[in-house]
Amino acid sequence: MAEFIRYEEVSRSGGRAGKRRVKVVRCDCGEEVWCESFTNTCECGADFNASGSKLADRSVWGEETGESASDVLVSDERLLHLLEDGW
Ligand SMILES: [Zn+2]
Repeated sequence: MAEFIRYEEVSRSGGRAGKRRVKVVRCDCGEEVWCESFTNTCECGADFNASGSKLADRSVWGEETGESASDVLVSDERLLHLLEDGW
């Protein structure tokens, strides 16, 4: 689990009014990663989801669970909507 740093307020994209909070976490490499998308890639290549959880390397996605990368992305999207509903 990446280290949580803070929340940042950012304007919504796509013409939606208001702002949303974006979680900022610190990667193992020391870089800050803004988790504003379903998947967020650090400069070092590590991927994080919208809730700041580090994702397994893309090359191993699905090997243990049988999920495809698209399954993982869809479940991320559901999570993001749940988060946004609460805000
Ligand atoms: Zn990194």
